[in-house]
Amino acid sequence: SVFIGSSIGGLAEVYASLQKSLGATENLFDILDEPAEPLTPVTRVAPEHTLHGYISFRHVSFRYPGREDTPVLKNLSFQAQANQTVALIGPSGAGKSTIVSLLLRIYDPTGGHILFDQKDSSSFPLSALRSQIATVPQDVFLFGGTIAENIAYGKQDATEAEIIAAAQQANAWEFIQQMPLGLQTLVGERGIQLSGGQRQRIAIARAVLKAPRILILDEATSALDAESEKLVQDALNKLMEGRTAIVIAHRLATIRQADKIIVIDKGAIVEEGTHHELISNEEGLYKTLCEMQFIQ
Ligand code: ATP
Repeated sequence: SVFIGSSIGGLAEVYASLQKSLGATENLFDILDEPAEPLTPVTRVAPEHTLHGYISFRHVSFRYPGREDTPVLKNLSFQAQANQTVALIGPSGAGKSTIVSLLLRIYDPTGGHILFDQKDSSSFPLSALRSQIATVPQDVFLFGGTIAENIAYGKQDATEAEIIAAAQQANAWEFIQQMPLGLQTLVGERGIQLSGGQRQRIAIARAVLKAPRILILDEATSALDAESEKLVQDALNKLMEGRTAIVIAHRLATIRQADKIIVIDKGAIVEEGTHHELISNEEGLYKTLCEMQFIQ
């Protein structure tokens, strides 16, 4: 499409102005999740653009366009091996969402390189990258339409059987079945209101259908009810299996399971390791964050 075909500079500008018009409080994921934007078309990915799931940040620096005086990421280096779960944690404003924007090439680094499988991220067509990366945002946006349409957004030619299978894997099938019109129930502004946990499970079903190589997860900070929480966590665990996952993490359960935790403060990596390794560093930010119950 024209949108995909436009230069990355142009795209970045579109997003920058979009983000500005939405206000600073709006989450990046809300925009990414906006179905009106043809960002994740169903594409056939060329073999040379197929991702195997290795990600490497090499001395990545970043400043937002128009804010060149403010470095947001400073010489960041880290790796995620294929199929690993890497948790990003750190105080508000540390730069976690910005890392995700760079992964999705909403912006490109102003210094350093991001590699996918040893190849510079700029060597992949945007459509190829984005069709192999799925995001599950904190606050899931459902568009006005049926539940089936909202799930099939992950794969527009999905059959009903595929949609049901995805809903089952996402622990969403039970509540969908209980609705008067099942998959054909209308949601969104003029439809039925779903709870936060239910919307998240719809987003997980979308991601299941998309079957991405890389998963980006922005964990909810607000508490779901215990039942929903367990169902969401369980669905996410299944979704992360056999995929590389980058998680902006807030829950201790997720963080404990992560292969690697990267602690970010003011745009730089200050600690890196497993929960076990980091918790024993008395002076570390991780320990402090845990004690402040920043991590729930
Ligand atoms: P939170 O946990 O609150 O979501 P975060 O760690 O994800 O925070 P970022 O959203 O990446 O942090 O923000 C890092 C820095 O970049 C902040 O100082 C923020 O004000 C700034 N920033 C974020 N988005 C933009 C933008 N579109 N334009 C200019 N500056 C931005």
